[in-house]
Amino acid sequence: MARCEVCGNDYDKAFEVTAAGVSHTFDSFECAIQRMAPICEHCGCKVIGHGTEVDGHFYCCAHCANHAVSAEVAVDRAQTSAR
Ligand SMILES: [Zn+2]
Ligand SMILES: [Zn+2]
Repeated sequence: MARCEVCGNDYDKAFEVTAAGVSHTFDSFECAIQRMAPICEHCGCKVIGHGTEVDGHFYCCAHCANHAVSAEVAVDRAQTSAR
């Protein structure tokens, strides 16, 4: 038995996902996405596909990446990408 770290559901078919050496336990992919998927810095959607990474910033697609880069948005370095 394992408890989902997002919603707290105690589920016998929970699964583990390991990222950057840290393992997380979820009861569903929905919870895994909620916890682990990066957020596009341009449109704010969850990046659940391959996405695009530019200088450590995640975008859902090249379109968003190009928009953000060409606009030269101010980057807040103190902002944390993971909760
Ligand atoms: Zn859950
Ligand atoms: Zn986007």
